[in-house]
Amino acid sequence: MNATEVMQQELQALESHSNLRRLPQMIHDGRNVIVDGQRMLNLSSNDYMGLAADREIREEFLQMLTPDSFLPTSSSSRLLTGNFGIYEELESELAALFGTEAALVFNSGYHANTGILPAVSDTQTLILADKLVHASIIDGIRLSAGRCIRYRHNDLAQLERLLKEHHENYRQIIIVTESIFSMDGDRADLKALARLKQTYGNVRLYVDEAHAFGTCGKQGLGCAEEAGCICDIDFLVGTFGKAAASAGAYIVCTRMIREYLVNRMRTLIFTTALPPVNIAWTLFIVRRLPEMQKRREHLAHVSRLLREALQAKGYSSPSVSHIVPMVVGPSADAILRAEMLQRHGFYALPVRPPTVPEGTSRIRFSLTAEIKEEDIKELISHID
Ligand SMILES: *Cc1c(COP(=O)(O)O)cnc(C)c1O
Repeated sequence: MNATEVMQQELQALESHSNLRRLPQMIHDGRNVIVDGQRMLNLSSNDYMGLAADREIREEFLQMLTPDSFLPTSSSSRLLTGNFGIYEELESELAALFGTEAALVFNSGYHANTGILPAVSDTQTLILADKLVHASIIDGIRLSAGRCIRYRHNDLAQLERLLKEHHENYRQIIIVTESIFSMDGDRADLKALARLKQTYGNVRLYVDEAHAFGTCGKQGLGCAEEAGCICDIDFLVGTFGKAAASAGAYIVCTRMIREYLVNRMRTLIFTTALPPVNIAWTLFIVRRLPEMQKRREHLAHVSRLLREALQAKGYSSPSVSHIVPMVVGPSADAILRAEMLQRHGFYALPVRPPTVPEGTSRIRFSLTAEIKEEDIKELISHID
């Protein structure tokens, strides 16, 4: 068989296991999407605060723009001529909000996670990563020179044993976790991780707050803010692509780590910086996040309603957040359930292997502050 035939065969195998993916076509209309002419409530969005669906907030931002501030490209890496002032304004704002020495902004969460670990790891580094960390973190680990051991999901006893066993054999150990996990919607115990880290002098902590930035904490800074342990986390990372309704990502850290990344991080150095107008929009949103406590409380409320209703129907899930999985098992079942909900006007999507383990295909509800109590009640009435 030649290479083309191998590809063809792989695609056919995916199709026959109901795992073939296609790029869906849709029209966005606020909190709804229109697919094949059918309008549905979007239950698969990462627009957790409902800001991407908020026309007024966009109008307000547009009114501030002029041809001089509407800069659609940076034309260069930040290390050459792409470092517009707005970047450093955003970084100062982030450092001030988080109470850290410094912040550094990247093109995406994917850039952050594929760039930071390779930059800060060497052969004397051991990375201890939660079994369920996001694909972008796994790619970062693959690109790094360090050795990696994955610990069972949220199993801090195993992590403690691994630290004890290995801490003398490496110059540094980096513990890597998400704060809210993408597929199960459960959380890591950041306080306990911070305590564990302090057991030995050469352990660092890396936390990805992709799903928590904007949605958790009094000021919307994430789970670390809520747990009061921002300063215990050496690499505190988040994306602007989800609750912040923008694009890009950040790390908040020490000045030294920032300087080190500027010198060593390939996904920062060798890419054109995001457009300044995009950074201006991010800054505009970030400045408003602290005042959005009402939206956060509403999101927590509708999420609890959905979790409790699913539980009452016999679907157990570890979720404690706005990401609420309904695990059905086989991929074909997940697809049928999703289609049924879509016929009733709810745009829910199936998540299948390899994104989740074999046999745990699910509908993954991803809620936003735009979703109302009545929506949840109607949704639940269609689930048995
Ligand atoms: C979405 C996500 C990312 C990637 O962020 P982007 O800005 O979309 O590239 C990284 N980590 C986690 C946990 C995510 O959910």
